[in-house]
Amino acid sequence: MMPARALTALDAALEGLPAAAVQRDAPLAPWCSVRVGGAAEALVRPPNVDAVVGVLRAAREHGVPVAVLGGGANTLVGDGGVPGIVLKLPADLAPEQIERVGERGRVTVCAGAAIARVVTLMKLHRWVGAEFLAGIPGTLGGAVTMNAGTKHGECMSIVEAVELATPDGAGFVEGLSFRYRHTELPTGSVVTRVRFALRDGDLADSQRRMDEDLGYRKRTQPLSQPNFGSVFTNPPGHFAGQLIESVKLKGHRIGNAQFSTLHANWIVNLGQATAKDVTSLMDLAQQRVREATGVELTPEVQRLGVFLP
Ligand SMILES: Cc1cc2nc3c(=O)[nH]c(=O)nc-3n(C[C@H](O)[C@H](O)[C@H](O)COP(=O)(O)OP(=O)(O)OC[C@H]3O[C@@H](n4cnc5c(N)ncnc54)[C@H](O)[C@@H]3O)c2cc1C
Repeated sequence: MMPARALTALDAALEGLPAAAVQRDAPLAPWCSVRVGGAAEALVRPPNVDAVVGVLRAAREHGVPVAVLGGGANTLVGDGGVPGIVLKLPADLAPEQIERVGERGRVTVCAGAAIARVVTLMKLHRWVGAEFLAGIPGTLGGAVTMNAGTKHGECMSIVEAVELATPDGAGFVEGLSFRYRHTELPTGSVVTRVRFALRDGDLADSQRRMDEDLGYRKRTQPLSQPNFGSVFTNPPGHFAGQLIESVKLKGHRIGNAQFSTLHANWIVNLGQATAKDVTSLMDLAQQRVREATGVELTPEVQRLGVFLP
């Protein structure tokens, strides 16, 4: 008889979850827009908010690391994969809520739903206010965490409250502090729902602004190639793309990763790129821009997992 395999801390942390909610050794590249990176030791899709709290609690008890992946539109997974649990919240973790309060609209949506969902609900209920989110890929959890936006607005400016799950429970919080492409979330917390404040307004103007924005994206962004949007945040007083172009790296290629010929602050995967190819390009740009201008480029993309030397 085969000897029984010893129960690992990961096994213990996953106990109690439905088998269908857990995938072992799950490749993450298909879940990330740039299509790069290794596998998660366990990819977990909790069916509801209580299950999220349960996984966080069990993971804390057994000392298992937990990471969250939204739509993977701003994530670079390391070639060595991700140890422990990667949570991926379903779009229907909890029921949506739509309320009208006078001239205002309040929509409460799941963090695992696409960013586009709030734009759809805005249009459906004839409200305005979330136009700048149209065309940004990813989930609402990622949009809150990254304070996603454009020069026309940022996600947290229209967020009324965020539901956070921790090992100790879940509840809505208001007044989280945020800045350019960053929201301060309590360590280890997971965004499970987001409540947006919308309002009555000029619907034709709202649609016109979204159409303009989408047209601009199509003209200026390499949307047909796998990528993760802007690589670096814009340093104060500069545009990262212009700085990268000024040091002659637009179109530069390492392995199968390339600074896009269309937009220098975007890296595209030409096919089978590794995380190492991508980080080598990023390191090169940071070094060249630092030497030429003294400006430090800060990555916008979030790294997840183990990056091999
Ligand atoms: C073509 C393209 C265009 C883009 N244009 C823009 C743009 O105009 N403006 C802009 O701001 N960004 C843009 N981005 C980047 C990206 O769309 C945004 O950052 C988006 O908010 C990422 O959401 P996501 O769910 O994919 O996040 P992910 O990449 O999955 O995760 C990003 C971070 O959020 C964390 N996270 C995700 N979900 C949760 C959760 N539920 N709880 C806690 N933490 C969580 C992750 O752990 C990670 O640290 C673009 C990307 C692409 C590919």
